[in-house]
Amino acid sequence: MLEVIDINKTFDNGFEALKAIDFTIEKGDLVCLLGPSGCGKSTILNIIAGLLSPTKGDIKFDGRSVVEVEPKDRNIGFVFQNYALYPHMTVLENIMFPLTVGPKKKDKAEAQKIAEEYMKLTNIEELADKKPGTLSGGQQQRVAITRALVQNPEVLLLDEPLSNLDARLRLKIREEIRRLVKEVGITTVFVTHDQEEALSISDKIILLNEGVVQQDDDPQNLYLEPNNLFVAKFIGNPIINTFEAEVKGDKLYFDDYSIPLSNFKEDRFKEKLVDGKYILGIRPEDVHPSASGIFKAVISQVELIGRERILNFYLNEDRFKSIVSVEEQIDAGMELAFDFAYKKAFIFKESGERVY
Ligand code: ATP
Repeated sequence: MLEVIDINKTFDNGFEALKAIDFTIEKGDLVCLLGPSGCGKSTILNIIAGLLSPTKGDIKFDGRSVVEVEPKDRNIGFVFQNYALYPHMTVLENIMFPLTVGPKKKDKAEAQKIAEEYMKLTNIEELADKKPGTLSGGQQQRVAITRALVQNPEVLLLDEPLSNLDARLRLKIREEIRRLVKEVGITTVFVTHDQEEALSISDKIILLNEGVVQQDDDPQNLYLEPNNLFVAKFIGNPIINTFEAEVKGDKLYFDDYSIPLSNFKEDRFKEKLVDGKYILGIRPEDVHPSASGIFKAVISQVELIGRERILNFYLNEDRFKSIVSVEEQIDAGMELAFDFAYKKAFIFKESGERVY
């Protein structure tokens, strides 16, 4: 429904911010553009909105190219990080405003009726007469989203909409946004650098780095089947354990240990491993204390995070993390043997490409 086709963006200073960006978003889906600061998320959003033009490529809504269409004629709702509400207008006036300007403007009574319907949907009816300056961040965000929806746009664009809210409110509002956009059935593009936020609300995630799509997939696949080392490290908290490793013959060596390649699951190898250097990746929940474990290590630190404990330990210089249930009485200083779930491990080439 929303197609971003082979987009490149080179700014006037010669910086190539986007390289061959290509993805499709189905009607009614909520998709997150995710990635570290500077990876190009806002640039893509601005190109979809028409605030920036691409150097190359096309944008289509329902099969129609919109690159030549003015932003105001693209039928888009845009919610900015800082909400951009009009301070001198009440909440109701803010929400009515887009309905009272432009070629399709409604008379005042009609605009108010529509605004009030949407305010019911977003649960802000009681804020109608307040000025934005007197509202909390969460309330302002609801008003901004309502103002975007009231125009009945084809596509809703949200640029880091929760970044000005405290942690608890972020959780609440992100659930509300998901519920709301699903209820309205609007195609939504949500920009965030927070992987947990993206995992929790998206139908699909487009993970970017340095202007290149690293993976375009459903949230579960990003975690379980990362395309490359960047994706494996970006998704998951605590971060995946990674080690320099070497394949020689039929064994994989790392630190003082060696693992027969036959311990890994044969059909997960994307190619036969030739001798050379690799990076072994294993998620903290796949490293377990086990009486028959192959590594022994002293726990250096234990972090309690609610129902789980994160155990930190070192094998030579390499720091490992293992997640266990809070019920396991393990404290710093204890020596334990560990094993890991080879079948769930990953092996990457030095270039980052995943081979297992
Ligand atoms: P953030 O999360 O920090 O907002 P982002 O992923 O949204 O980051 P963009 O704002 O899209 O990143 O910027 C992508 C890259 O393009 C950055 O390196 C940025 O410095 C660069 N950039 C953005 N606008 C311009 C411009 N007008 N001229 C030159 N470079 C630009």
